[in-house]
Amino acid sequence: MDISLSTSVEELPKIGAAYAKKLKKFGIKTIQDLLFHFPARYDDFSEIIKISDARHKLGHTVCVQGKITEIENTHTHKKWMSMTEAAIEDETGQIKAIWFNQPYLAKNLREDDFVCLAGKISLYKEGLYLNNPSYERINNLGENEDLTHTGRIIPVYPETRGVTSKWLRYVIKPLLYRFAEQIPESLPLEIIKKYKFLPVQEAIWQLHFPESFEHADAAKSRFSFEELFLIQLNVLKEKIKLMQKKSPACPMDANLMKSFTDSLSFKLTDSQKKCAFAILKDLEKSVPMSRLLEGDVGSGKTVVAAMAALNVAKNSQPAEGQTAFLAPTEILAKQHFRTITELLKNFNASVGLLTGKDARIFRNDETSEVSKKSLLGDLENGQLNIVIGTHALIQKGVEFKNLALVIVDEQHRFGVEQRDNLMKNKKLVPHLLSMTATPIPRTLALTVYGDLDLSLIDEMPKNRKKIKTLVVEPKDRKEAYKFIEKEVKDGKGVFVICPKIESANSKLQEIIKSKGQISGSFIPQNYPLADLKSLAINEVKAVKDEYKKLSEEIFPDLRITMLHGKMKPNEKEKIMLDFKKGEVDILVSTSVVEVGVDVPRATIMMIEGAERFGLSQLHQFRGRVGRSDMQSYCFLFTTDPSQLNRKRLKALVESDNGFKLAQIDLEIRGPGSLYGTQQWGLPDMAMQGLSNIFLVEKTRTAAKELLEKDPELKNYPLLKERLKQFEKRIHFE
Ligand code: ADP
Ligand code: MG
Repeated sequence: MDISLSTSVEELPKIGAAYAKKLKKFGIKTIQDLLFHFPARYDDFSEIIKISDARHKLGHTVCVQGKITEIENTHTHKKWMSMTEAAIEDETGQIKAIWFNQPYLAKNLREDDFVCLAGKISLYKEGLYLNNPSYERINNLGENEDLTHTGRIIPVYPETRGVTSKWLRYVIKPLLYRFAEQIPESLPLEIIKKYKFLPVQEAIWQLHFPESFEHADAAKSRFSFEELFLIQLNVLKEKIKLMQKKSPACPMDANLMKSFTDSLSFKLTDSQKKCAFAILKDLEKSVPMSRLLEGDVGSGKTVVAAMAALNVAKNSQPAEGQTAFLAPTEILAKQHFRTITELLKNFNASVGLLTGKDARIFRNDETSEVSKKSLLGDLENGQLNIVIGTHALIQKGVEFKNLALVIVDEQHRFGVEQRDNLMKNKKLVPHLLSMTATPIPRTLALTVYGDLDLSLIDEMPKNRKKIKTLVVEPKDRKEAYKFIEKEVKDGKGVFVICPKIESANSKLQEIIKSKGQISGSFIPQNYPLADLKSLAINEVKAVKDEYKKLSEEIFPDLRITMLHGKMKPNEKEKIMLDFKKGEVDILVSTSVVEVGVDVPRATIMMIEGAERFGLSQLHQFRGRVGRSDMQSYCFLFTTDPSQLNRKRLKALVESDNGFKLAQIDLEIRGPGSLYGTQQWGLPDMAMQGLSNIFLVEKTRTAAKELLEKDPELKNYPLLKERLKQFEKRIHFE
């Protein structure tokens, strides 16, 4: 058979359809993909000793080579565990090997077989033995054999059901012999030279079957570099392209901005002022702005966005420049609509709202429902200054007269991509302001958001009190309920977040991994309906159970309502409004439902099964309260917190700094714990690299230098192709 690196793994006799399907879970389709399935770690089985030396090696993991003189199945003393015992002999002596629960071994290995065994030398009454050793058949003693599973540093791979590391070694090694030499070198030679990297053909060998740990590290650093380098190229390439485009320059109207800030019922924080100024300065230029406005929940990003939109519109009609404001969900779009219209009511701005079904226009101090068609007409002839909406805003048929600014809430990457869509066939590119409450560590900001300039609101409005956060153990539950009841009697609102549902959630992860494409909010788009339903049913059940418990047993006298993803948008909106107005005391909600809404009267956030959430997400939930000058509380209910979770929850109790919490999550649970990163489809090497600031900076410099020289990568066809493949895999949010 004629096979090459691009041949499907299914064609290989050792693999076939059944294994090919399993490998697909890792995104492995071709032989090349399989060779790029990298070990997660290694076992050091490189020390081979003579059996007579075993007594000096008690407690060490070593290999011995010898002939099996005896092998049989028995039972442990307690009878319930099967045990296989063998005796192995070399020219210096004999040692025992013991395996538990692997009775098939006595069939696989026979007397007189030569084997290499790798395991820990242990001691039992009768003497030394090898405890549960890995084994590998060899031809004879004293020959320098090419060992795969023992007698060397052994790769341990990410595994899945039915795909073990041993099996992977068994299929990968012959493929390396056959194909390693053919892997094209896609890193530019000057980079390989400059950083003294191993060439890919050698690095791939050293990564799978390293001669030493130094060799493995050298190989790893090459591949981590390469993957981060590809991300940087991807991000910077777009930026360089964008810099050549023109945007409408919107001069800052200082008087207008002053009268706007004077109209507010509060004073902007210094941070807000600084960020607003940076944005307004960007807007003056004819180079497209790409700015990420980052600030903890409640830090007041919306006002800053409103200033930008107002300055672009210049209280003139028709608008001098239009603003499109994209929100991840209908609830949030409607909330932004209310907030923005309230903020701009004295400024002669016309503001539209466009969601799936709804179209509203605010004009001359009044909001009216309109047909979608008339709203679109107004947009097209410039009668609308600002339009707020969901994805409905960027569908075909939505035309702007002079779109100058796109504001995107909580969907960073999305904004960049959508701007690309919006600007197709247009001479002018709108400026982009992306907003997020997700704290993004510096390494991430320099890579996946490397094309965005960063503005930080790192200060909370002065009237805020620190939210008191408490871990509530089962025995203190009653007391917490009593407290909640008292607060409600005082007119305060309470959020209850139901526990996350693990099974449904891992399913979610899987789907997201295979399909990509989710939105920045909790609810994925393009999510298969059937799966969404099963997820929703689980979550809905959790909400219903909790609702029943609270309304029937715990707080029969209070007004309790539930909110979940299966409800219609209007229904959800009405509930949120009722809650906001104080007609509902306790709102029971799923974790998948967007609770990114502003309800100043809510002062208690109660989270069930808190140990199941990531720190950043808990911090997000907590940010739903503490939005007024009243003292607020966050109760973390746990059922069975493990040690690890205790550490995490403790961090939440102690810190109200989102960056610090993200950093802690990064340290305890790795980059995969950071909000969103799981869904990017990044290779493991790149994920690991994301916590290494030196590596990140190195790759960034290298990518910049290369793109400045050759923006289209004309002289690097292999790299260009590799980048194309890589881009298919990843999808940043
Ligand atoms: P987020 O950054 O989470 O989007 P919002 O923009 O929703 O925060 O602001 C949260 C609340 O804080 C709003 O009710 C807003 O009116 C209020 N707010 C914003 N800035 C200030 C400030 N400087 N002083 C007092 N309150 C503020
Ligand atoms: Mg917000």
